[in-house]
Amino acid sequence: MNPLLREKLYSSAKFAELIFFPSSCQLCYALLDFPRERVVCRSCLKRITPHRSSYCLCCGRFFVGHGDPHLCQHCLKGSPPFSFHRSCGQYRGKLKDIILLYKYHSFRVLGQDLANLIQRSLGREERLWWEVDAIIPVPLHPKKKRQRGFNQAQVIAKCLSRLRGVELVERRLIKIRNVPPQTSLELKDRQKNVLGTFRVVKRETIKGKVVLLVDDVYTTGATIRECSAALREAGVKEIRAITVAQA
Ligand SMILES: [Zn+2]
Ligand SMILES: [Zn+2]
Repeated sequence: MNPLLREKLYSSAKFAELIFFPSSCQLCYALLDFPRERVVCRSCLKRITPHRSSYCLCCGRFFVGHGDPHLCQHCLKGSPPFSFHRSCGQYRGKLKDIILLYKYHSFRVLGQDLANLIQRSLGREERLWWEVDAIIPVPLHPKKKRQRGFNQAQVIAKCLSRLRGVELVERRLIKIRNVPPQTSLELKDRQKNVLGTFRVVKRETIKGKVVLLVDDVYTTGATIRECSAALREAGVKEIRAITVAQA
């Protein structure tokens, strides 16, 4: 490429960056000056360490302390409609701050960092990735998507699909009811709140496939369960799930 043109392109990219992205880290206020540093600096991102304690082999709920992964009381009583779920870490500290910046301050560029975190924490868990045919994001209701400007799960899923070379399947699992946010509800009301909320369209395109569901936060698991029930009903062979954090 012509060096003059390259220089021009570089300065316009730099200019666009100054307009669209903050110049300092939104968490620690250090200057962002390394290539590909956007919104949050490298050292803040590095301080998010994958969760190390034991967890439920099925629902992925973290246990306090160490020991081998085993089934929790709930999963011993009955299995959920998905095979298993895993999160990168707990919804607190820097990880929570980044998710909040991402979701509520429209810094959608952080979706790539969160996908990188999934790859870093769970990329080697073979049973999550083995023979996965499709990555499907947990959908937002169209009205909610318009309000937020983007679907946070979709952006992460898209980045993850590129990282892993697995097909991203969108607009098959859809949200048909705009229900109150799960965060505003008591535990017992969350499952009721999402009942019958999701539907699968063009089901023949995902029938018989192994699917990886992706969402940002796992709280009671009601959303992942309901999505999985809809996918299962549509003939999906197996559902596994990944979330960035669990509350
Ligand atoms: Zn920082
Ligand atoms: Zn469990």
